[in-house]
Amino acid sequence: MSDFCSLYDMKLSDLGEFGLIRRIQGIASRKSSSVLVGIGDDAAALRLSASQILLVTTDALLEGVHFDLTYTDFYSLGWKSAAVNLSDIAAMGGVPRFCLIALGIPARISAEQVTEFYRGFNALLRAHKTILVGGDTCSSRKGLFISVTVLGETNPRRVVTRAGARPGDRIFVTGTLGDSAAGLEILKSGGTLHSREHSLTLGAGRGQGARAGKLIQKHLLPVPRIQEGRKLALSGCASAMIDLSDGLSSDLSRICEQSKVGAKIYVGQIPLSPPLRKASARLKKTPLHYALSGGEDYELLFTVPPARVRKLRVLGIPFTEIGEITRARRMLLLDSSGDRTPMQPSGYNHFPPTSRP
Ligand code: ADP
Ligand code: MG
Repeated sequence: MSDFCSLYDMKLSDLGEFGLIRRIQGIASRKSSSVLVGIGDDAAALRLSASQILLVTTDALLEGVHFDLTYTDFYSLGWKSAAVNLSDIAAMGGVPRFCLIALGIPARISAEQVTEFYRGFNALLRAHKTILVGGDTCSSRKGLFISVTVLGETNPRRVVTRAGARPGDRIFVTGTLGDSAAGLEILKSGGTLHSREHSLTLGAGRGQGARAGKLIQKHLLPVPRIQEGRKLALSGCASAMIDLSDGLSSDLSRICEQSKVGAKIYVGQIPLSPPLRKASARLKKTPLHYALSGGEDYELLFTVPPARVRKLRVLGIPFTEIGEITRARRMLLLDSSGDRTPMQPSGYNHFPPTSRP
């Protein structure tokens, strides 16, 4: 009871998003031998039997917070609503199986737009043999509200959490970082992508348009790394894993926090795509800014003990080594001249600190 009172006494911005989740965890979570992984990871891992683990994850997308209908088409919105949830199953090394979706729909949205949303949603589910089995439909007085829950499975000895990184483990990411955040900025400044045809109508030259198209596509139509997450888990290579939803600096800090370790990142090794490098100059920010602080890449960030790095190299997944886990519990950026800069988590926070009166 007193916990609830102090929760209401405090501003959410004083607690921050993760402080609030920790508070909720303190009030409501219970230890049980069936709960292998509870609050604090990409998905909960629940023991159904000696050989079966159920993975469950839920993520909401709110109009005006996560998306803006002036630059997101409904097909892409449906696709992305599925992708962000499947990505959390990938980060646990699991296989997605079933899903549920709850919608709060304002009166201004048409039946055709909802249908288009489900075409995009189902296209990604079909690609991963995941079946929609239920949900809920309500009207909304204000924005469009989407909440998706995905159920997946894995076996007990193959669950990869955020807590398994050890000093000396190497740090890797799949794909390239920062593309989605740069794509979002291009969208905000008037770029568009017609997702069905993947054609671009950006008021720019052809080369510039194609580059922006790759970044916009990464933002609107992210592809969850299901096969890669599965291979990393089944091979036993990954000691810890998370999907990059909030940006490298924030998501790495979650692995460090849960594993009680620190990390050093070699700045020059962070994989940056050619379209990002070229677009950054126009957007007047460095590619590194997008890679460290930009969210929604939905790539996998994972750690591998040195003895398993050789095995990792034959898995056939696109990865780059970017750093090493350290015993000292802080995050450092190392540049090519050996200079070290502390790295602070700088991704999206739903309740950022406000200046106090
Ligand atoms: P992700 O970015 O991977 O979706 P989040 O940062 O959203 O993960 O959530 C971190 C953990 O906190 C997850 O285990 C999630 O289920 C849990 N969580 C988030 N919000 C709440 C809430 N309101 N009540 C209970 N658990 C929550
Ligand atoms: Mg996640």
